[in-house]
Amino acid sequence: MDLNPIVYAIPVFFALMGIEYAVARVRGRQAYRLADSIGSIGAGVASQITGLYARVLSFGIYVLAYETLRLADWPADSWLVWVLALIAYDFLYYWNHRLGHEMNVLWAAHVVHHQSQDFNLGTALRQSSTGFLFGWVFYLPMAIAGVPPLVFAGVALIDLLYQYWIHTEQVGKLGWFDRVFASPSNHRVHHAVNDRYLDKNYGGILILWDRMFGTFEDEDPAEPPVYGTRKPYRRHDPLSSNLEHYALLARQSLATRSWGDRLRLWLKPPGWRPADLVATEPDVPFVIEPLRAKPVPPLDRPRQIYAALCFIALVAAATHCLVLAGPRGQHAWEVWPYAAWVLFTLWALGRWLDGLKLASPLLALAWLAVLWPLGLDWPVVVGAAVMAAAAASLPPIVRT
Ligand SMILES: [Zn+2]
Ligand SMILES: [Zn+2]
Repeated sequence: MDLNPIVYAIPVFFALMGIEYAVARVRGRQAYRLADSIGSIGAGVASQITGLYARVLSFGIYVLAYETLRLADWPADSWLVWVLALIAYDFLYYWNHRLGHEMNVLWAAHVVHHQSQDFNLGTALRQSSTGFLFGWVFYLPMAIAGVPPLVFAGVALIDLLYQYWIHTEQVGKLGWFDRVFASPSNHRVHHAVNDRYLDKNYGGILILWDRMFGTFEDEDPAEPPVYGTRKPYRRHDPLSSNLEHYALLARQSLATRSWGDRLRLWLKPPGWRPADLVATEPDVPFVIEPLRAKPVPPLDRPRQIYAALCFIALVAAATHCLVLAGPRGQHAWEVWPYAAWVLFTLWALGRWLDGLKLASPLLALAWLAVLWPLGLDWPVVVGAAVMAAAAASLPPIVRT
């Protein structure tokens, strides 16, 4: 059966997360926290669902540029073309990723991937839903060089899937490999906020790019990485997660009195602020110690079980939705109520974990709303009614 390739990858992702969880347990470590995992994997689900619609822009522009501007014709059935295209993609990915850290408007999209204070295979799935806005710009050279869209989509997928396994604390240093390829050790450095690790190791498959362009840093056993963002992110729903930095930039643009800074702000590195805002509210020096603590939402056993069940059902529904949307998302517009339902329910579940009082009736409503895309078959009706009743009877625990 012809399916969206991500659908084939989903069972592999979960099997490997299971192995990672078990290995960590045997070693007496905790690799996963429930709410954090829901936040991370939920962001990945949202990214795939919104991607069904966003690819019209991102991939559509690539195809258009290829059709109208290409300077050469490369055969899509030559392995050499694939290898060269993969290397070219990985090089452009390095710059896309590096600017994603060095320019506010691009960081606003990429920050989603860095919000978790944990570093595990679930963190790898924590992907942005707004990368499509500007990401395509970086890959236009490949379209102009004449890399066929099929090859481009293939190598982009290979580059993304490769990066899955490097998000783990369970694999140590790998010697020479860590200096040639992106690896768990050098990607731990990338996700760390320690001074010496900040803005390092951007490579997707090859870490050689970082060594060439001066952004490589080795993991030092004497300095364990502290993960996340410098201003810790505490929510668990994909909407807040994706809007967090855009909202901050919009607030700062409105607050400053300088018209130049209103625009400049979006192009400056994260953390930069207009002079008049620094004058009224000076920068606070960064202290890493408090970030070692990882606060968790106070969930009792019934709520943990409910959150897990809700989330498993959502992942299954999202996978179903991706299947229905077709291998290239060509039926995406026919399944939009289902896609919208997945996003709404993920948001309600995340806000419920955050302790938003209103989230309980919203989650109950979301479960009843599933009857719109899925119809009135009795197993669906019973399942939706049970999940809705449970949501209504389990108000969130409000954090004090
Ligand atoms: Zn990054
Ligand atoms: Zn990463």
